Amino acid sequence: MINQADLRCPDCGETERFRVVSNGTTVLDSDRGSSICESDFDESATIECLACDNTDEVGIFDLVSQQSRCDLCGRFTHEDHGQGCGSCDGYLFPVDFFTADAFTEPQGR
Ligand SMILES: [Zn+2]
Ligand SMILES: [Zn+2]
Repeated sequence: MINQADLRCPDCGETERFRVVSNGTTVLDSDRGSSICESDFDESATIECLACDNTDEVGIFDLVSQQSRCDLCGRFTHEDHGQGCGSCDGYLFPVDFFTADAFTEPQGR
């Protein structure tokens, strides 16, 4: 089970709006004369970012496994930081580097 709170678009950083092509299971229960659709999906399901149209597997959008981010194009990646971006001339930094007050100039120098 993938939690939406753990998803982030690796291209634009979107965390709210996605479309998932679910390979969900439909349970047919003849006794109750109804069908129950289970909308669960796994890492191999196709996910589309509604903010930038980036489409990939859910596993690629998995926030937990995103290690680093490019300082130039802003791309999130599963690759380790400390190396080149691969998509541009930027450099990969830890995701934590971009949070908190990482961009605040040091005071009192
Ligand atoms: Zn996106
Ligand atoms: Zn880049």
